[in-house]
Amino acid sequence: MTGGPSLPLASDALVLFGVTGDLAYKKIFPALQAMAKRGTLGFPVVGVARSGWVRDQLVERARASVTEYGGLDPSAFAILESQLRYVEGDYHDPDTFRRIRVELQHAQRPTFYLAIPPSVFPAIVQRLADCGCSKGARVVVEKPFGRSLESARALNQLLLRTFPEESIFRIDHYLGKEAVQNILYFRFANAFLDPIWNRRYVENVQMTMAEDFGVVGRGKLYEETGVIRDVIQNHLLQVVSYLAMEAPSSTYAEAIHDEQAKVLRTIRPLTTENLVSGQYRGYRDEPDVAPDSQVPTYAAIRLYVDSWRWEGVPFIVRAGKRLKMTCTEVRVEFKTPPPVVFHEPAPPEGNYVRFRLSPQVAIALGARVKSPGEAMVGEPIELKLVDGPEQGTGGQMDAYERLLGDAMAGDATLFARQDVVEAAWAIVDPLIRTPQPVHAYEPGSWGPGDADRFVSGIGGWNAPE
Ligand code: NDP
Repeated sequence: MTGGPSLPLASDALVLFGVTGDLAYKKIFPALQAMAKRGTLGFPVVGVARSGWVRDQLVERARASVTEYGGLDPSAFAILESQLRYVEGDYHDPDTFRRIRVELQHAQRPTFYLAIPPSVFPAIVQRLADCGCSKGARVVVEKPFGRSLESARALNQLLLRTFPEESIFRIDHYLGKEAVQNILYFRFANAFLDPIWNRRYVENVQMTMAEDFGVVGRGKLYEETGVIRDVIQNHLLQVVSYLAMEAPSSTYAEAIHDEQAKVLRTIRPLTTENLVSGQYRGYRDEPDVAPDSQVPTYAAIRLYVDSWRWEGVPFIVRAGKRLKMTCTEVRVEFKTPPPVVFHEPAPPEGNYVRFRLSPQVAIALGARVKSPGEAMVGEPIELKLVDGPEQGTGGQMDAYERLLGDAMAGDATLFARQDVVEAAWAIVDPLIRTPQPVHAYEPGSWGPGDADRFVSGIGGWNAPE
C-alpha cells in the first residue's frame, strides 16, 4: 500500500518447505498458477520435503492441485512447471540446506515459506542461519502463531534471532480478503460514518463465522487447536481490530499495524463469564478425536473495548463448526431512535451496517421507511452498496495469490506484526489456560442456547441469511 517508505527489493526465489502438504496442495500451487497467468511468476520455486519424491512427482502433485482447486490453465501451468525445482532431505541435515543453496543458483533475496507443522520451525530457522541462506531473505510463517501468549512470544523470539521483523511475514489469510480490506476502506472513506461510529450511536457489534461442515478428517489437528486458537485469536480478532481501530495516518503498513495493536491492547482479557463453549454432537465420533474430548468446536465471546470511542459497547463474536450455514458476517447495530413520534411497536432491529465477508461479499445499510398507506408505520429495508461473488472468481485475486505476491514484493501491510499477534493472544490467553466445559449442540443449529445470554438484552442474534 502507500504512504510510507518505498518497498524493499522484490524476492528473487521462493523456497517452499512442506511442498507435499495440505496447504501447498489447496492454496499455494493454485496461487502460483494464478501468478503465472498474471505474468508475475518470474522466479524459481524450490519445493522441499522429506518424502523421497522426484521432481516429476512434484509436478504431478502441482497439476492435480490446480486441477482440483480452480482449474488447470495449460499455458500458466507450463510456466509454473518450468520454474519448479525439488530438493529432498531431512531438516536436521545441513546437506539439505547446501542443496537448497545450489538450487537457488544466483538468487540473492529468497523467500522461505514454512508450510510445515510449527514444531519444525526451530530446526529450519536455525539451519537457514547456519548455512547463510537467511541473509537478505524473507520468511513466511502460517497461523497459528504459537498456541498461547507465551509460545507466541517464544516463536517470535526464535524468528527474530535470524530475521529482522520487516523480513518476517505472518500470514493470516483473512487480511488478504478483499472484503476485510473493504471494512477499512468503507470506514475511513465515508464521512457520514465518522460521527456515528462510536458508543453514542452503536448499540452492539456482532460477528458470526459459521461453517456447516465439521473437522473433515482433520480431527487430530483440531484436537490440538479448538475454535479459539483456530479462528478467533487470529482471523476474527484481526477483523475486530479493523472495526474498532482509530484512523491510521496512511495505508503504510506500520501505520495500520500501530492502530491495530493499540485497539487490541484496549480490549479486556476475556473472563469465563464472557465465553460460552460448545461442541457439536458427533464430534467425539470423528476419527482421531478422543471419546471424552472437551475441545470446543464453537465459542461465543463478548468483548469490551475500553477506549473513549467504545466504552460499554459489546462486541459479540461467535464461531463454530457444523452450524446452520457457512458464512462470515459482521453487523454493527445502531441504537434505535426514541419512540416518541410514531405510535408503532418498537422495531425488532435498529439501523445497521452489515459486512458479509464470505462466501459472498456484501456491504449493506439497514434502515426503516414508511409503509405505503394512511398509517404512519414503517418497515425495514436494506440498501446494498456492495453485492458480489466470492473473491477469487471473475479474475479477482484470491487471498493467497495476493499475500504471496505481497510477501515476494516485501509489502507487509496485510500480514500480522509481532505486537499485534501478541496483543490478540493476550485477550484469549486466560480462556486457553483454563479450558471451560463444553455445551453440546445439534449439528445444523446455531450452536448452544447458553450463548443467547450475550444477546438477550439487545434484540437477539443477527442470524445471517
Ligand atoms: P501438513 O500436516 O500437511 O504438513 C505439511 C508437510 O510438512 C507434510 O507434507 C510433510 O512433508 C511435512 N512434515 C510433517 N510433519 C513433519 C515433521 N515432523 N518434520 C518435518 N516435516 C514434516 O500441514 P499443512 O500443509 O496442513 O499446514 C502447513 C502449515 O500451514 C502448518 O503450520 C499449518 O498450521 C498451517 N496452515 C494450514 C492450513 C491448511 O489449510 N492446511 C490453513 C492455515 C494454516 P514431508 O513428510 O513430505 O516432508
